[in-house]
Amino acid sequence: MALDRFRRMVQELTSFRANQRFAREQFVRLSLRQLLLSTRDRSEHPCPVCETRVPINNGTAVTTEQGMFGVGPLVRYRCANCDAVFGPLALLDLSEAGLIEEYKLLYRAYREGATTGIQASVLEQTEPRSGERILNFGCGTWKKGLARLLASGADVWGYEPSLPKQHDRIAQHLSELRGPFDVVFSHNLIEHLQDPVAQFTAWRQMLSPNGRMAHATACYEWLYDESPFHLWFPLGRSVEVLASRTGFRVTGRRAFNRGDKANFYEVVLFQRQDAADR
Ligand SMILES: [Zn+2]
Repeated sequence: MALDRFRRMVQELTSFRANQRFAREQFVRLSLRQLLLSTRDRSEHPCPVCETRVPINNGTAVTTEQGMFGVGPLVRYRCANCDAVFGPLALLDLSEAGLIEEYKLLYRAYREGATTGIQASVLEQTEPRSGERILNFGCGTWKKGLARLLASGADVWGYEPSLPKQHDRIAQHLSELRGPFDVVFSHNLIEHLQDPVAQFTAWRQMLSPNGRMAHATACYEWLYDESPFHLWFPLGRSVEVLASRTGFRVTGRRAFNRGDKANFYEVVLFQRQDAADR
C-alpha cells in the first residue's frame, strides 16, 4: 500500500539522518581523542598568562576524568605563580590553523545556542555612552542583537571569523575593523584563547585611551572543564596578572546566576591604562 511505503520511506530517512549525525559525532570524538593522545612528553611548559615555566608532573596536573564528546580524560596544569590552569596541551599548542580545523570539524556535529540576551547584559556592564564605538569580539550569530542595539542608536560592530558574512557591521577579518573602539566585549571567548597575552595586547591597540572591556565566561571558576576547547581558566590572581602584563586594570567583576551552572557567568571589567590614569 502507498501509505505503508510512505511510512517506511520516512522511517528510513529519519534513521539515515540519525546515522549521519552519529557518524559525525563519532568522527569528532575519534579525531579529538587521537589529538589528545598525541600530546608529546615534556618536563615543563610556560604558563600562557605569566610565562612562568610550570613543571609538567602529577603535582601540577588537574585531571578531568571524562571530557565531553566521550574523548576520555583531560589533563591540564596549574601555575603556582598566577593560579591559571592551562591545557589540554595538545590543543593549546596546536597551530592556529590546526585549531581552526578542529573547530570546523566540531561545528559540523555540534552547534552553540544563540546567547543574544547575555551579550546585551555583558555590554550593559560597561555603561556605554551615546556616540561611543563598541565592538563585540567573537560575536557568533548576532544579527538580531546587533539590529536591536543599532535601533537604540549605538555605534556597534561585531567580529566573527568562523561564520559566513551576516551583516555589513560584522567583520570576518580583523583588517575590516576600523578602530579605535571605546568598548570591546565578549562572551564565552577568552577561555578559548591559545595566547591570552597576545590577544589582550591586540585589544589594547584597538581601544581608545582609557577604553573599557568586559569579558564574560563561567570559566573564571573551575566550571566546564569537560570541554577540551577550554584552553585556560582565568582563576585566582591570573586575571589581575594578565591585566597588568597587557596594560589594563581590572575595574570590577560581577557574577550572575551563581549556583545555576547552565546560566552562570561572570563579567570582568577592564580599563586600558594610560599615562593620565596612572
Ligand atoms: Zn602563570
